[in-house]
Amino acid sequence: MSEPDVVLNASRRSAIERVVDTRLPTVHGELRAVGDLDGATGHEQVALVCGEVGEGREVLTRVHSECLTGDVFGSNHCECGDQLASALRAIVAASAGVLVYLRGHEGRGIGLLAKLQAMRLQDEGLDTVEANLALGLPSDARDYRVAAEILHDLGVGSVRLLSNNPRKLDALRRYGVDVVERVPLLIPPNDENLRYLRTKRERLGHQLPHLDEIAAGAGAGAGAGTAPAPPPARNGQRPSAASAASVSANEVTRLARTSLPFSADASEGRPTTPDSV
Ligand SMILES: [Zn+2]
Repeated sequence: MSEPDVVLNASRRSAIERVVDTRLPTVHGELRAVGDLDGATGHEQVALVCGEVGEGREVLTRVHSECLTGDVFGSNHCECGDQLASALRAIVAASAGVLVYLRGHEGRGIGLLAKLQAMRLQDEGLDTVEANLALGLPSDARDYRVAAEILHDLGVGSVRLLSNNPRKLDALRRYGVDVVERVPLLIPPNDENLRYLRTKRERLGHQLPHLDEIAAGAGAGAGAGTAPAPPPARNGQRPSAASAASVSANEVTRLARTSLPFSADASEGRPTTPDSV
């Protein structure tokens, strides 16, 4: 492996200031909310922490880009809400882990209103990459410096990263995060997000092998549990280490398929609706 071209180390001052560390009971379990102010951007950032992670190795970690529409409104346009909930369930199931919720990452970094404009363009036929470019914006403007600083500040030594996005691993490694493994976070697609997910795989390099189970051009089979069972990790991914404190890739997939407490469709057996990478 080549040396990272940017490394977070003692010679590089962190831009974050720890403001608060408080208990946060959630539907997923007992967490801590650790709040930092990012002096470089002015963003207020929050990491949700489960268990003891200080000096921890191979900590199950999700670095989640904020998505108001998916995370809060339950939009089916993307899979962000499902991924957020699935990651928290996996972290709680492992009894230790971190979810860094990155503000300023709406629409892969183009902002909320531009993302909504891009969604309108996608309804007119552009794909998610073309839509950003048509607005004169980058297809992915996200920066992961602050995530690396937060993990460093929490004392996390190395991470097993819940993500389908190899570029995110590369970006975190460039900032000095020791990513020992990528743990897939596969969400069954729906009719609304299938094209979006295919674009993410084909144009942005996301590893979404479960889409292979759906015939080209076919819908995702809205409802009735027709979404395929995601296969075990493949394409050379290293299977998850099966330690008592870890959650396997298959387990994360299973957790991803469990009903969400706020999913109106859960009783119908549809893929859970409320997820990002
Ligand atoms: Zn989203």
